[in-house]
Amino acid sequence: METPDIKSLYMNEIVLIMKELDQPSFRAKQLYEWMHSKLVTSYDDMTNLPMELRSLLKERYPLTALETITLRHSEIDGTEKYLFGLSDGSVIESVMMKYKHGNSVCISSQVGCRMGCTFCASTLGGKERDLLASEMLDQVYRIQAATGERVSNVVVMGTGEPFDNYDSLIRFIRILISRDGLNISARNITVSTCGIPDRIRAFADEGLPVTLALSLHAPNDELRKKLMPIARRYSLDEVMDTFRYYCTKTGRRPTFEYSLIEGVNDGLTHARELAAFLTGLNCHVNLIPLNPVRERNYRKSEASAVQKFKNILEKNRINVTIRREMGSDIEAACGQLRNSFLDKSGE
Ligand code: SAH
Repeated sequence: METPDIKSLYMNEIVLIMKELDQPSFRAKQLYEWMHSKLVTSYDDMTNLPMELRSLLKERYPLTALETITLRHSEIDGTEKYLFGLSDGSVIESVMMKYKHGNSVCISSQVGCRMGCTFCASTLGGKERDLLASEMLDQVYRIQAATGERVSNVVVMGTGEPFDNYDSLIRFIRILISRDGLNISARNITVSTCGIPDRIRAFADEGLPVTLALSLHAPNDELRKKLMPIARRYSLDEVMDTFRYYCTKTGRRPTFEYSLIEGVNDGLTHARELAAFLTGLNCHVNLIPLNPVRERNYRKSEASAVQKFKNILEKNRINVTIRREMGSDIEAACGQLRNSFLDKSGE
Protein backbone atom coordinates (compact mmCIF):
# COMPACT_ATOMS: atom_id res chain seq x y z
CA MET A 1 0.00 0.00 0.00
CA GLU A 2 1.19 3.49 -0.81
CA THR A 3 2.09 5.69 2.18
CA PRO A 4 -0.73 8.15 2.76
CA ASP A 5 0.21 11.80 2.53
CA ILE A 6 -0.40 12.69 6.17
CA LYS A 7 -1.06 16.39 5.62
CA SER A 8 -3.91 15.53 3.22
CA LEU A 9 -5.76 13.39 5.78
CA TYR A 10 -8.90 14.26 7.73
CA MET A 11 -8.81 14.18 11.52
CA ASN A 12 -10.74 10.88 11.68
CA GLU A 13 -8.18 9.26 9.38
CA ILE A 14 -5.34 10.43 11.61
CA VAL A 15 -7.19 8.98 14.60
CA LEU A 16 -7.01 5.60 12.85
CA ILE A 17 -3.27 5.99 12.31
CA MET A 18 -2.78 6.79 15.99
CA LYS A 19 -4.80 3.72 16.89
CA GLU A 20 -2.53 1.61 14.71
CA LEU A 21 0.47 3.10 16.49
CA ASP A 22 -1.13 2.33 19.89
CA GLN A 23 -1.47 5.99 20.70
CA PRO A 24 -4.38 7.70 22.43
CA SER A 25 -6.67 9.55 20.06
CA PHE A 26 -5.88 13.01 21.49
CA ARG A 27 -2.51 12.66 19.76
CA ALA A 28 -4.39 12.94 16.46
CA LYS A 29 -5.73 16.35 17.45
CA GLN A 30 -2.29 17.48 18.56
CA LEU A 31 -0.69 16.39 15.28
CA TYR A 32 -3.52 17.91 13.23
CA GLU A 33 -3.13 21.25 15.00
CA TRP A 34 0.61 21.33 14.45
CA MET A 35 0.13 20.77 10.72
CA HIS A 36 -3.00 22.80 10.04
CA SER A 37 -3.15 25.52 12.69
CA LYS A 38 0.35 26.10 14.02
CA LEU A 39 1.70 25.43 10.53
CA VAL A 40 4.98 23.76 11.45
CA THR A 41 6.80 21.89 8.70
CA SER A 42 8.75 19.31 10.69
CA TYR A 43 7.88 16.65 13.27
CA ASP A 44 10.83 17.96 15.30
CA ASP A 45 8.85 21.09 16.11
CA MET A 46 5.85 19.17 17.48
CA THR A 47 7.05 19.51 21.04
CA ASN A 48 4.05 18.03 22.83
CA LEU A 49 4.38 14.70 20.99
CA PRO A 50 6.66 12.10 22.63
CA MET A 51 10.08 11.78 20.96
CA GLU A 52 9.49 8.10 20.01
CA LEU A 53 6.21 8.97 18.33
CA ARG A 54 7.85 11.80 16.40
CA SER A 55 10.58 9.52 15.06
CA LEU A 56 8.04 6.80 14.22
CA LEU A 57 5.90 9.29 12.30
CA LYS A 58 8.96 10.69 10.54
CA GLU A 59 9.88 7.24 9.36
CA ARG A 60 6.42 6.11 8.26
CA TYR A 61 4.67 9.30 7.18
CA PRO A 62 7.08 11.78 5.63
CA LEU A 63 5.88 15.33 6.13
CA THR A 64 6.42 17.52 3.09
CA ALA A 65 6.25 21.29 2.75
CA LEU A 66 6.52 23.68 -0.16
CA GLU A 67 9.79 25.43 -0.63
CA THR A 68 9.75 29.11 -1.56
CA ILE A 69 11.87 29.55 -4.69
CA THR A 70 11.19 33.21 -5.30
CA LEU A 71 9.06 35.86 -3.72
CA ARG A 72 8.19 39.07 -5.53
CA HIS A 73 6.69 42.03 -3.80
CA SER A 74 4.73 44.66 -5.74
CA GLU A 75 5.70 48.23 -4.96
CA ILE A 76 2.37 49.37 -6.39
CA ASP A 77 -0.18 47.56 -4.25
CA GLY A 78 1.60 45.20 -1.86
CA THR A 79 0.66 42.09 -3.86
CA GLU A 80 3.08 39.22 -3.29
CA LYS A 81 3.77 36.50 -5.76
CA TYR A 82 5.28 33.21 -4.62
CA LEU A 83 6.95 30.61 -6.76
CA PHE A 84 6.93 27.34 -4.80
CA GLY A 85 8.89 24.15 -5.40
CA LEU A 86 7.20 20.77 -4.76
CA SER A 87 8.98 17.67 -3.48
CA ASP A 88 9.22 16.21 -7.02
CA GLY A 89 10.83 19.36 -8.42
CA SER A 90 7.70 20.80 -10.03
CA VAL A 91 6.95 24.48 -9.57
CA ILE A 92 3.68 26.28 -8.92
CA GLU A 93 2.73 29.85 -8.18
CA SER A 94 0.45 31.55 -5.71
CA VAL A 95 -0.46 35.18 -5.12
CA MET A 96 -1.31 37.10 -1.99
CA MET A 97 -3.39 40.23 -2.44
CA LYS A 98 -3.98 42.77 0.30
CA TYR A 99 -7.47 44.22 0.49
CA LYS A 100 -9.17 46.40 3.07
CA HIS A 101 -11.24 43.41 4.17
CA GLY A 102 -8.16 41.21 4.69
CA ASN A 103 -5.56 39.15 2.92
CA SER A 104 -6.65 36.99 0.04
CA VAL A 105 -4.57 34.13 -1.35
CA CYS A 106 -5.00 32.81 -4.88
CA ILE A 107 -3.84 29.21 -5.15
CA SER A 108 -3.07 26.76 -7.94
CA SER A 109 -4.89 23.42 -8.07
CA GLN A 110 -2.72 21.60 -10.63
CA VAL A 111 0.78 21.75 -12.09
CA GLY A 112 -0.14 23.17 -15.50
CA CYS A 113 -3.61 22.66 -16.94
CA ARG A 114 -5.16 20.56 -19.69
CA MET A 115 -8.24 22.66 -20.40
CA GLY A 116 -6.58 24.51 -23.27
CA CYS A 117 -8.30 27.91 -23.03
CA THR A 118 -6.75 29.84 -25.90
CA PHE A 119 -5.99 33.04 -23.95
CA CYS A 120 -4.48 31.44 -20.85
CA ALA A 121 -0.77 31.07 -20.03
CA SER A 122 -1.27 28.19 -17.58
CA THR A 123 -2.27 25.72 -20.23
CA LEU A 124 0.61 26.28 -22.67
CA GLY A 125 2.64 23.29 -21.44
CA GLY A 126 -0.38 21.09 -20.69
CA LYS A 127 -1.03 19.43 -17.35
CA GLU A 128 1.91 17.87 -15.53
CA ARG A 129 0.00 16.52 -12.57
CA ASP A 130 -2.70 17.16 -10.01
CA LEU A 131 -1.79 18.77 -6.71
CA LEU A 132 -2.31 16.89 -3.47
CA ALA A 133 -4.66 18.51 -0.96
CA SER A 134 -1.60 19.19 1.23
CA GLU A 135 0.11 21.02 -1.62
CA MET A 136 -2.94 23.23 -2.06
CA LEU A 137 -3.14 23.85 1.69
CA ASP A 138 0.55 24.58 1.99
CA GLN A 139 0.28 27.50 -0.44
CA VAL A 140 -2.00 29.18 2.11
CA TYR A 141 0.05 27.99 5.09
CA ARG A 142 3.43 29.12 3.82
CA ILE A 143 2.07 32.53 2.91
CA GLN A 144 0.38 32.99 6.28
CA ALA A 145 3.56 31.87 8.05
CA ALA A 146 5.80 34.12 5.93
CA THR A 147 3.69 37.25 6.31
CA GLY A 148 2.69 36.60 9.92
CA GLU A 149 -0.76 37.87 8.94
CA ARG A 150 -3.97 35.89 8.90
CA VAL A 151 -5.27 34.81 5.50
CA SER A 152 -8.99 35.56 5.49
CA ASN A 153 -9.98 34.71 1.91
CA VAL A 154 -8.88 31.97 -0.44
CA VAL A 155 -9.60 31.84 -4.15
CA VAL A 156 -8.91 28.75 -6.23
CA MET A 157 -8.17 30.77 -9.36
CA GLY A 158 -4.53 30.05 -10.03
CA THR A 159 -3.15 27.50 -12.46
CA GLY A 160 -5.31 24.43 -13.07
CA GLU A 161 -8.94 23.42 -13.26
CA PRO A 162 -10.08 22.61 -9.70
CA PHE A 163 -12.89 20.31 -10.89
CA ASP A 164 -10.32 18.28 -12.83
CA ASN A 165 -8.77 17.51 -9.40
CA TYR A 166 -12.02 17.05 -7.53
CA ASP A 167 -11.13 14.78 -4.60
CA SER A 168 -8.12 16.84 -3.56
CA LEU A 169 -10.17 20.03 -3.91
CA ILE A 170 -12.78 18.70 -1.47
CA ARG A 171 -10.14 17.62 1.05
CA PHE A 172 -8.44 20.98 0.69
CA ILE A 173 -11.64 22.89 1.45
CA ARG A 174 -12.77 20.66 4.32
CA ILE A 175 -9.39 20.87 6.05
CA LEU A 176 -9.11 24.62 5.45
CA ILE A 177 -12.48 25.31 7.07
CA SER A 178 -12.02 22.84 9.94
CA ARG A 179 -12.13 24.21 13.46
CA ASP A 180 -8.78 22.65 14.35
CA GLY A 181 -7.25 23.98 11.15
CA LEU A 182 -7.17 27.59 9.96
CA ASN A 183 -10.94 27.73 10.46
CA ILE A 184 -11.51 29.87 7.36
CA SER A 185 -15.18 30.37 6.63
CA ALA A 186 -16.45 28.48 3.56
CA ARG A 187 -18.12 31.74 2.56
CA ASN A 188 -14.69 33.28 2.20
CA ILE A 189 -13.58 30.66 -0.30
CA THR A 190 -14.17 30.98 -4.05
CA VAL A 191 -13.66 28.21 -6.57
CA SER A 192 -13.39 29.18 -10.22
CA THR A 193 -14.25 26.67 -12.93
CA CYS A 194 -14.39 26.52 -16.70
CA GLY A 195 -17.69 24.64 -16.23
CA ILE A 196 -17.88 20.83 -15.93
CA PRO A 197 -21.55 20.01 -15.29
CA ASP A 198 -21.33 16.69 -13.41
CA ARG A 199 -18.69 18.12 -11.08
CA ILE A 200 -20.72 21.27 -10.43
CA ARG A 201 -23.65 19.04 -9.45
CA ALA A 202 -21.47 16.88 -7.19
CA PHE A 203 -20.00 20.01 -5.60
CA ALA A 204 -23.49 21.34 -4.89
CA ASP A 205 -24.26 18.11 -3.04
CA GLU A 206 -21.19 18.41 -0.77
CA GLY A 207 -23.04 20.98 1.34
CA LEU A 208 -20.20 23.50 1.34
CA PRO A 209 -21.36 27.13 1.02
CA VAL A 210 -18.40 28.11 -1.15
CA THR A 211 -18.76 30.78 -3.84
CA LEU A 212 -18.55 29.27 -7.29
CA ALA A 213 -17.33 31.43 -10.16
CA LEU A 214 -18.02 30.31 -13.69
CA SER A 215 -15.61 31.34 -16.42
CA LEU A 216 -17.97 32.46 -19.14
CA HIS A 217 -15.90 34.69 -21.47
CA ALA A 218 -18.56 34.58 -24.20
CA PRO A 219 -22.33 35.10 -24.32
CA ASN A 220 -22.99 32.23 -26.73
CA ASP A 221 -21.77 28.71 -27.52
CA GLU A 222 -20.28 29.58 -30.88
CA LEU A 223 -17.82 32.14 -29.56
CA ARG A 224 -17.19 30.25 -26.33
CA LYS A 225 -16.12 27.20 -28.36
CA LYS A 226 -13.43 29.30 -30.04
CA LEU A 227 -11.98 30.35 -26.70
CA MET A 228 -12.53 27.34 -24.48
CA PRO A 229 -12.26 23.74 -25.73
CA ILE A 230 -14.48 22.58 -22.84
CA ALA A 231 -17.36 24.43 -24.51
CA ARG A 232 -17.24 21.92 -27.37
CA ARG A 233 -18.12 19.24 -24.86
CA TYR A 234 -20.77 21.00 -22.81
CA SER A 235 -23.22 23.61 -24.04
CA LEU A 236 -23.90 26.76 -22.05
CA ASP A 237 -27.41 25.42 -21.39
CA GLU A 238 -26.03 22.29 -19.73
CA VAL A 239 -23.50 24.27 -17.68
CA MET A 240 -26.06 26.88 -16.64
CA ASP A 241 -28.58 24.22 -15.54
CA THR A 242 -26.12 22.75 -13.06
CA PHE A 243 -24.80 26.16 -12.07
CA ARG A 244 -28.32 27.28 -11.17
CA TYR A 245 -28.73 24.04 -9.22
CA TYR A 246 -25.51 24.87 -7.33
CA CYS A 247 -26.64 28.37 -6.44
CA THR A 248 -30.11 27.29 -5.33
CA LYS A 249 -28.74 24.44 -3.24
CA THR A 250 -26.01 26.49 -1.50
CA GLY A 251 -27.71 29.88 -1.42
CA ARG A 252 -24.60 31.48 -2.90
CA ARG A 253 -24.92 34.19 -5.53
CA PRO A 254 -23.75 33.17 -8.99
CA THR A 255 -20.49 34.82 -10.08
CA PHE A 256 -19.32 34.98 -13.67
CA GLU A 257 -15.89 35.80 -14.98
CA TYR A 258 -15.54 37.45 -18.34
CA SER A 259 -12.07 38.27 -19.63
CA LEU A 260 -12.20 41.03 -22.22
CA ILE A 261 -10.20 40.41 -25.38
CA GLU A 262 -9.97 43.20 -27.92
CA GLY A 263 -12.07 42.62 -31.01
CA VAL A 264 -13.01 39.10 -29.91
CA ASN A 265 -15.61 39.27 -27.14
CA ASP A 266 -15.62 42.91 -26.04
CA GLY A 267 -18.07 44.55 -28.48
CA LEU A 268 -21.33 46.25 -27.68
CA THR A 269 -23.28 43.41 -29.25
CA HIS A 270 -21.47 40.95 -26.97
CA ALA A 271 -22.34 43.08 -23.96
CA ARG A 272 -26.01 43.24 -24.98
CA GLU A 273 -26.10 39.52 -25.64
CA LEU A 274 -24.48 38.86 -22.28
CA ALA A 275 -26.99 41.11 -20.52
CA ALA A 276 -29.86 39.22 -22.16
CA PHE A 277 -28.26 35.89 -21.27
CA LEU A 278 -28.03 36.87 -17.59
CA THR A 279 -31.43 38.53 -17.29
CA GLY A 280 -33.32 37.48 -14.20
CA LEU A 281 -30.28 36.05 -12.42
CA ASN A 282 -29.23 37.88 -9.27
CA CYS A 283 -25.60 37.49 -10.18
CA HIS A 284 -22.26 39.21 -10.12
CA VAL A 285 -20.06 39.68 -13.17
CA ASN A 286 -16.34 40.16 -12.86
CA LEU A 287 -14.81 41.76 -15.95
CA ILE A 288 -11.13 40.94 -16.32
CA PRO A 289 -9.13 43.00 -18.82
CA LEU A 290 -7.06 40.34 -20.60
CA ASN A 291 -3.51 39.81 -19.42
CA PRO A 292 -1.85 39.37 -22.79
CA VAL A 293 0.13 36.14 -23.09
CA ARG A 294 3.29 36.40 -25.16
CA GLU A 295 2.61 33.18 -27.09
CA ARG A 296 -0.87 34.30 -28.19
CA ASN A 297 -2.07 37.04 -30.47
CA TYR A 298 -4.81 38.38 -28.24
CA ARG A 299 -4.74 41.95 -27.02
CA LYS A 300 -6.26 43.55 -23.97
CA SER A 301 -9.42 45.61 -24.54
CA GLU A 302 -9.07 49.39 -24.43
CA ALA A 303 -10.09 50.94 -21.12
CA SER A 304 -12.92 52.76 -22.90
CA ALA A 305 -14.27 49.48 -24.35
CA VAL A 306 -14.17 47.91 -20.89
CA GLN A 307 -16.11 50.86 -19.50
CA LYS A 308 -18.72 50.74 -22.28
CA PHE A 309 -19.13 47.00 -21.75
CA LYS A 310 -19.66 47.60 -18.05
CA ASN A 311 -22.17 50.39 -18.66
CA ILE A 312 -24.37 48.16 -20.81
CA LEU A 313 -24.47 45.49 -18.13
CA GLU A 314 -25.26 48.09 -15.49
CA LYS A 315 -28.04 49.56 -17.57
CA ASN A 316 -29.54 46.10 -17.50
CA ARG A 317 -29.24 46.11 -13.71
CA ILE A 318 -26.49 43.53 -13.60
CA ASN A 319 -24.03 43.76 -10.75
CA VAL A 320 -20.61 44.20 -12.30
CA THR A 321 -17.06 45.02 -11.25
CA ILE A 322 -13.88 45.45 -13.23
CA ARG A 323 -11.14 43.35 -11.69
CA ARG A 324 -8.40 45.61 -10.45
CA GLU A 325 -5.09 44.69 -11.96
CA MET A 326 -2.92 43.71 -9.02
CA GLY A 327 0.83 43.39 -9.06
CA SER A 328 1.28 44.31 -12.72
CA ASP A 329 4.95 45.07 -11.95
CA ILE A 330 5.66 41.50 -10.78
CA GLU A 331 4.06 39.30 -13.46
CA ALA A 332 1.21 38.51 -11.09
CA ALA A 333 -1.18 37.36 -13.80
CA CYS A 334 -2.00 33.67 -13.99
CA GLY A 335 0.92 31.50 -14.94
CA GLN A 336 3.27 34.30 -15.97
CA LEU A 337 5.88 33.93 -13.25
CA ARG A 338 5.96 30.15 -13.51
CA ASN A 339 6.33 30.34 -17.29
CA SER A 340 9.18 32.81 -17.16
CA PHE A 341 10.89 30.64 -14.54
CA LEU A 342 10.51 27.54 -16.75
CA ASP A 343 11.78 29.48 -19.77
CA LYS A 344 14.91 30.54 -17.91
CA SER A 345 15.62 27.11 -16.45
CA GLY A 346 15.35 25.67 -19.97
CA GLU A 347 12.49 23.20 -19.39
N1 SAH B 1 -9.66 26.69 -14.42
C1 SAH B 1 -10.35 27.71 -13.67
C2 SAH B 1 -9.40 28.70 -13.03
C3 SAH B 1 -8.63 29.47 -14.06
S1 SAH B 1 -7.87 31.02 -13.69
C4 SAH B 1 -11.33 28.43 -14.57
O1 SAH B 1 -11.34 28.18 -15.77
O2 SAH B 1 -12.12 29.23 -14.07
C5 SAH B 1 -9.10 32.15 -13.21
C6 SAH B 1 -9.72 33.01 -14.31
O3 SAH B 1 -8.76 33.75 -15.07
C7 SAH B 1 -10.53 32.23 -15.29
O4 SAH B 1 -11.73 32.89 -15.52
C8 SAH B 1 -9.66 32.24 -16.51
O5 SAH B 1 -10.40 31.99 -17.67
C9 SAH B 1 -9.08 33.62 -16.44
N2 SAH B 1 -7.87 33.83 -17.25
C10 SAH B 1 -6.95 32.93 -17.61
N3 SAH B 1 -5.98 33.48 -18.36
C11 SAH B 1 -6.28 34.79 -18.45
C12 SAH B 1 -5.66 35.89 -19.10
N4 SAH B 1 -4.54 35.75 -19.79
N5 SAH B 1 -6.25 37.10 -18.98
C13 SAH B 1 -7.40 37.24 -18.27
N6 SAH B 1 -8.02 36.24 -17.67
C14 SAH B 1 -7.49 35.02 -17.75
